Amino acid sequence: MNKIGFIGLGNMGLPMAVNLKNQALEVKAYDLSEEAKVKAIQSGIEVKNSIQETSKSIDALITMLPNDSAVEEVYLNSSLLDDLAKTTLIIDSSTISPETSKRVANRASKVGISMLDAPVSGGVKGAEDGTLSFIVGGKDEDLVKASSLFDIMGSNTFHAGDSGSGQIAKLCNNMLLAIHMCGTAETIAMGVKNGLDPEVLSEIMKKSSGGNWSLEKYNPFPGVMKDAPAGKNYSGGFLNLLMLKDLSLAQELASLSNSETPMGKLAKELYEDLNNQGMGDLDFSSIQKRYLN
Ligand code: NAD
Repeated sequence: MNKIGFIGLGNMGLPMAVNLKNQALEVKAYDLSEEAKVKAIQSGIEVKNSIQETSKSIDALITMLPNDSAVEEVYLNSSLLDDLAKTTLIIDSSTISPETSKRVANRASKVGISMLDAPVSGGVKGAEDGTLSFIVGGKDEDLVKASSLFDIMGSNTFHAGDSGSGQIAKLCNNMLLAIHMCGTAETIAMGVKNGLDPEVLSEIMKKSSGGNWSLEKYNPFPGVMKDAPAGKNYSGGFLNLLMLKDLSLAQELASLSNSETPMGKLAKELYEDLNNQGMGDLDFSSIQKRYLN
């Protein structure tokens, strides 16, 4: 896996492509947006003028696209799958619905091409530092082929199961993340309204049975963790609009699988409120703002 085509050079895709290039892999890339192309060229990436040029003579094609419709546009509404060499492995790291992912994988398999769904956890910092977690769905042998790439761009690779399973596991994780972030924010606010110091309360809960990732790594209450987005007016981090996207995909999945998810549904509504109030561009721990009045 030395020759890589990369499509989607946004906040996540560009640093991932740069990490591959920095390990002496041959990377050629494409993005629809002129701004993204200019940034990529400035970062030393070889940018092509079309998906066709990007996908010629490569070992793997990685896509890091914003949503289902972009993934459909690239793989299903074009001749890409017919044009790719049969030996090319497709790795789609976008977060999309498991149904769309399976549809693309099935279509690819009909023309003899393998695909892994490999959404990531770890955010922009993880993409820059090469410490992402890849949550992969697809065949074992394809994961083995791609593992050198995952090792460059990340520090953990999980095999969730067959095609689409990576997306299912990613949506499960992010639904739980939203639920414990909302629970953590409302709990700290209640303690503070009753006279407790947020730092002291956070420390007590972190070391007690209420302990969770939000308390350990990402405290939502301003001032408790200086380096967390809450210490920087909720800038950077994982945006509310992306959390809402993932919670919406999780609700679609719940409905298709007849799963009871009242907490996931409520978390989605809380993030919808934040987005409707114009806070889509803040970090998702800004759910704390709802409880600060
Ligand atoms: P982004 O919007 O910054 O980047 C997406 C890029 O894809 C853009 O540059 C856009 O121009 C390009 N694009 C869109 N349609 C295209 C097409 N048809 N052909 C070529 N290029 C096209 O998004 P991002 O933050 O980099 O996220 C990418 C994916 O990773 C999303 O699915 C997101 O949910 C997921 N994700 C993001 C984060 C995060 O913290 N940003 C964390 C984990 C997962």
